[in-house]
Amino acid sequence: MTLSGKTAVVTGSNSGIGLGVARALAQAGANVVLNSFTDRDEDHDLARALAAEFGVEARYIAADMADGAQCRALIEQAGGCDILVNNAGIQHVAPVDEFPPEKWDAIIAINLSSAFHTTAAALPMMRAAGWGRVVNIASAHGLTASPYKAAYVAAKHGIVGLSKTVALECAREPITCNAICPGYVLTPLVEAQIPDQMAAHGLDRETVIREVMLERQPSREFATVEQIGGTVVFLCSPAAEQITGTTISVDGGWTAL
Ligand code: NAD
Repeated sequence: MTLSGKTAVVTGSNSGIGLGVARALAQAGANVVLNSFTDRDEDHDLARALAAEFGVEARYIAADMADGAQCRALIEQAGGCDILVNNAGIQHVAPVDEFPPEKWDAIIAINLSSAFHTTAAALPMMRAAGWGRVVNIASAHGLTASPYKAAYVAAKHGIVGLSKTVALECAREPITCNAICPGYVLTPLVEAQIPDQMAAHGLDRETVIREVMLERQPSREFATVEQIGGTVVFLCSPAAEQITGTTISVDGGWTAL
């Protein structure tokens, strides 16, 4: 399929799933706007590399998704937004009674409130263009819970609810909104959880990966960023026109348990 002529904004896309989604959208012909909170040469190089590889327009715009005004400014600076992928996210693992309040606030801001702000800024552009796709990268933790992840689970359940509400508000327009719920995908965010999980459970790295992380993923395989990217491209395809207000799990069977 071709997304030629469409502009896609992917938040938190200088690594991991966001970069994989941006690559998949560029491969499908979309012009892409990459984002994170840093403003380094290597961030802009990522955009240049995508433009060269796929023959699309690609830009990197620095904006901190913890700040509502910067979320809205990102969409304005993009100059158009046919496809919005809310992907930026962070994690912190601690028991709820020891959970640092500033970590709670940051996770709710980056993993949930940012999507409210970007969506609010993007919908008028989608309505003007007569077509739009909002894809929120939630998590299996948007549908189920795990101990020690209070803020993350709350934010991911929240973004599933936000996706349903936006879908209903746009139901009579050619604009859809859905959430993708990945299981474990081996990215820097997951890599960073391994030492915390090792400490929390008193286990070595390999045992944490096999027995703790992938214990709930019946396939016992990580999902890949390419699979998440392909799911986003599918949601932008004509086959997905009537798919709105729902979740698509890419979790090796986690939520079937
Ligand atoms: P990652 O750490 O590789 O990527 C997170 C991205 O968000 C990075 O580009 C980072 O720079 C960006 N980011 C962080 N704080 C930001 C801020 N304040 N402003 C703008 N950008 C910011 O992690 P990932 O695993 O690729 O996670 C991407 C998304 O996928 C997250 O929402 C995460 O919750 C979700 N997810 C990941 C997994 C997994 O197993 N990796 C599973 C389910 C859901």
